[in-house]
Amino acid sequence: MKNVVALLIAAPGSLRRTEAEVLSAARRLADGLGGRVTAVILGAADESWTADAAAYGAERVARVEHAALGSYQAELAVEAARQACLALQAEVCFVPSSTYGLELAPVLAQKLGAAVVADVTAAAGDAATGAVKITKPVYGGKANSELIARQAPLVLAMRSRAVAPVEKKAGAAAEVMKLDVQLDAALAKSTIVERKTEAAGGARLEDARIIVSGGRGLGGREGFALLEELAGLLGGSVGASRAACDQGWVPASWQIGQTGKKVAPELYLAVGISGASQHLVGIGGAKHIVAVNKDEKAPIFQAAEAGVVEDFKTFIPALIQAVKKHKAAEGK
Ligand SMILES: Cc1cc2nc3c(=O)[nH]c(=O)nc-3n(C[C@H](O)[C@H](O)[C@H](O)COP(=O)(O)OP(=O)(O)OC[C@H]3O[C@@H](n4cnc5c(N)ncnc54)[C@H](O)[C@@H]3O)c2cc1C
Repeated sequence: MKNVVALLIAAPGSLRRTEAEVLSAARRLADGLGGRVTAVILGAADESWTADAAAYGAERVARVEHAALGSYQAELAVEAARQACLALQAEVCFVPSSTYGLELAPVLAQKLGAAVVADVTAAAGDAATGAVKITKPVYGGKANSELIARQAPLVLAMRSRAVAPVEKKAGAAAEVMKLDVQLDAALAKSTIVERKTEAAGGARLEDARIIVSGGRGLGGREGFALLEELAGLLGGSVGASRAACDQGWVPASWQIGQTGKKVAPELYLAVGISGASQHLVGIGGAKHIVAVNKDEKAPIFQAAEAGVVEDFKTFIPALIQAVKKHKAAEGK
């Protein structure tokens, strides 16, 4: 399996870490197999994506631009990806585990007659046999499962933050091509009536260096206002447990965990979160975990490096004051 494709779905702005990870996973696999990487950019992404894809190791960059891809719609994106994979004779196709990627991967695999694996954390190639060893966590991250794929084609959805990006080689050359696809807008089974952009507080959770996260223990939206103030002071972002999202206190896009985002900040401050295994799965990549919980027996303290047994209503305002005082002393 030598033809490796990294499928990138256009998004506003420059290429993000999510795309860099997909390109890096593809690069490492192609190195193991003695193959080559083609980055397929689906939709009208910023021009800089081409150079960035090359910098992350793609030998070829295929831009697929079509009027019908202007606004992401699953059926059209899948059809464009299918045609691109066939034209490039893709044997392994990596997609990001973003909302779009996860929607696209199984349908694309079905249309290509490919095997599909989601939540992949590593894919290593054996040049002698051409086989691909795929690793993915199971049992809520308590164990890893290893799958050996001996036959192409494969569609692999990479878990975000599972791999470190390869070294970016600015100025690296790649063959750049425009790939034409035939798309009929009537393929789309849904109509986009309206798009609402959620106001983002701080960096995307997947890219955040500091995350202040709240759970059911916050008791309501007001508790999150305190966390937002703290995160703002620390230059961080706010996340949440599923319980807090399900209550409607914060948007579902803030959810961290098994069915939410996987994050890897330097500091994860868990406030009023019990530490269920489904939540911990999402924070396995965090460097330092600090927990604030009024129950000293809360399981989160097993995962945390430091803990504060205290009511958040007492501790967080005090912490906010301390950070403000520190910043004032530093003249920031
Ligand atoms: C298939 C499946 C997938 C799931 N996916 C996810 C997921 O992606 N993410 C996720 O988070 N969960 C997920 N869950 C849900 C998970 O099992 C837990 O129910 C959830 O994480 C609990 O959220 P919580 O810790 O906020 O709430 P709780 O478990 O209710 O914990 C609240 C905590 O707040 C503390 N507390 C209460 N009051 C205060 C106070 N005043 N000050 C300080 N501490 C206080 C309590 O002591 C308690 O420890 C999933 C479950 C299933 C079955």
